[in-house]
Amino acid sequence: MNRKKIWLSAPHMGGEEIKFVQEAFNTNWVAPVGPNINAFEDGLAAYNGVGYCAALSSGTAAIHLALIILGIKHGDEVICSTFTFSGSCNPIAYQGAVPVFVDSEAETWNMDPELLEEAIIDRIRRTGKTPKAIIVVHLYGMPAKIVDIVTIAKRYGVPVIEDAAEALGSSFRGQKLGTFGDMGIYSFNGNKIITTSGGGALVSNNPTWIQKAKFLATQARDPAPHYQHSEIGFNYRLSNICAGIGLGQLRVLDERVHQRRGNFSFYKSELSGLSGIRFLEEPPDAFSNRWLTTILVDPVQFGKTREDLRLALEEENIESRPLWKPMHLQPVFKNAPSYINNCSEVLFKNGLCLPSSSNLTISERRSVVKALGSSA
Ligand SMILES: *Cc1c(COP(=O)(O)O)cnc(C)c1O
Repeated sequence: MNRKKIWLSAPHMGGEEIKFVQEAFNTNWVAPVGPNINAFEDGLAAYNGVGYCAALSSGTAAIHLALIILGIKHGDEVICSTFTFSGSCNPIAYQGAVPVFVDSEAETWNMDPELLEEAIIDRIRRTGKTPKAIIVVHLYGMPAKIVDIVTIAKRYGVPVIEDAAEALGSSFRGQKLGTFGDMGIYSFNGNKIITTSGGGALVSNNPTWIQKAKFLATQARDPAPHYQHSEIGFNYRLSNICAGIGLGQLRVLDERVHQRRGNFSFYKSELSGLSGIRFLEEPPDAFSNRWLTTILVDPVQFGKTREDLRLALEEENIESRPLWKPMHLQPVFKNAPSYINNCSEVLFKNGLCLPSSSNLTISERRSVVKALGSSA
């Protein structure tokens, strides 16, 4: 086995990134701010059809600022999808607030709207207080039942933060994800559909919030010739260099979505003959960027477990990964109130993410299929 490693999700430059980075060098806009940042924010807002955007150092930072802007404080409760990456809910803990986890529904693998409403009602009954915010995640690029979730949230007056870190380019009824809630966040970490080497963004139609995010992200400096602070700030701004990479990546974003969707179609058509392997389908009105192609293994029907498959791929120098381990099963969140229906636990037990880079070659795709097929 000497073929080069096939990664789960690798960076994929378009070619123009270096031009924007070079421009930043030429004009010495290396730090701290600069024209690439403004252009990246404008481009991202226009792409998503949303009013305002703040480019930040990470998706996690974007969620943290969203919580601060919504006034989340020590002891407040914030509802979050349990089936997600820890970046979704760690910022709740940064604020000293309490995460309340809600399980998924089987159709999209995202937050179950009915269980969300049950959770809200139960929190009000137990604590006398309504949860202060809802963080809903669009996992692997698949749109959550976002219209239902926003409707329920409005009924109880709870603001919604959409974690679209994995879902840039996805849409529901033609509207881009990240724009349904009060605020939305994206991530440009190295493994995401486009990358700035590391970065994130907060979007909203509320200009005051985005202005506040930029203020907080640059150490909360009051207008004064000296440095003056009336609030605690953060060093959360994206650099002008990274924003240059982002500008180049934005130009190829739709192509990246197309390529990742191509991975999904390929795997699905090649593996549909194997009984006991299921794919996550798009419900009506949903358009997924197919950030990662995922499969569900029925160990009885298939005759092998998810872990057998993962090890068979590893043997062939191919990286794959179990689906996210739900947050309510994480040792660090074991005491958090959770509303669980078993859905995410089954997904974690039987689900696998396949190599899904947008620069995956045909022969690499074939190697993955071959390794999966021969283990069957
Ligand atoms: C990647 C990711 C984040 C965090 O983004 P960073 O830019 O890595 O901080 C948050 N939520 C989800 C669902 C993610 O996949």
